[in-house]
Amino acid sequence: PTKLLEGKKGLVLGLANDRSIAWGIAKAAHDHGAQLAFTYQGDALLKRIKPLIDTLGDGTLLMPCDVTRDADMDATFQTLKDTWGSLDFVVHSVAFSDKEQLKGHYKDTTRENFLQTMDISVFSFTDVAKRASALMNDGGSMITLTYYGAERVMPHYNVMGVAKAALEASVRYLAADLGARGIRVNAISAGPIKTLAAMGIGDFRYILKWNEFNSPLQRNVSIEDVGGSGLYLLSDLSRGVTGEVHHVDSGYHTVGMLNMESVSE
Ligand code: NAD
Repeated sequence: PTKLLEGKKGLVLGLANDRSIAWGIAKAAHDHGAQLAFTYQGDALLKRIKPLIDTLGDGTLLMPCDVTRDADMDATFQTLKDTWGSLDFVVHSVAFSDKEQLKGHYKDTTRENFLQTMDISVFSFTDVAKRASALMNDGGSMITLTYYGAERVMPHYNVMGVAKAALEASVRYLAADLGARGIRVNAISAGPIKTLAAMGIGDFRYILKWNEFNSPLQRNVSIEDVGGSGLYLLSDLSRGVTGEVHHVDSGYHTVGMLNMESVSE
């Protein structure tokens, strides 16, 4: 089969381990010929991700980058410029909120955590988009990861839901800003997946079960499912698509209530 990203160079932010959504997308991109650069948040993660990166072969870049630090961001994009000179796509798979506030009620969010959640989970994508677009000379594609909690209230998602709503709005504004240069900006709204970040959300196992039972496909999605859709959005297959929030959630967001007869035993 044809390789959809042959000759393309992409930056992936947000790899923590082999369960990360970033890894599902990176694997699909790598299988389709992309050359990849990864950033990781801190040295604690390096031990986990180095063996993963090693499976991708030579030419893969690996850089430390805390998205809240301008100096880290400057260094990351300087390295990309010096090493590659140009960039074709970006995968932004980064979010954070204080675990203590991913349970209970939204009204109890503190100012400090509100601002930190917005900084890491929303502003970082805008910052990356600005810096990455400066290296995109021949069009490009950027994707970020969002969740249904942006559109509807989900238990315990709280300030992260508010942040994802802002992230989805950012996708539309960035798509408008960058469209004239042939740079597309989209989001994938993934169904719940058991990852490091997700385990911080209160009652996450219950949310997984609920989605499994109440989605048309009657199953949860995998990082490989998200990887397939990510590949489509990063490649020319989606050349007419921008500003979009694409749901990879077994159809959960389309359902008000399933007919009992369609629910398997
Ligand atoms: P994950 O824990 O594997 O990834 C989250 C990543 O964010 C980690 O690599 C972490 O290092 C990084 N990060 C956090 N703060 C950072 C900072 N200051 N600087 C740099 N990196 C930082 O979990 P995941 O579920 O793969 O999360 C990836 C994205 O997918 C997130 O945006 C998350 O909200 C989104 N998402 C997850 C689910 C789910 O159920 N897992 C569903 C929909 C959307």
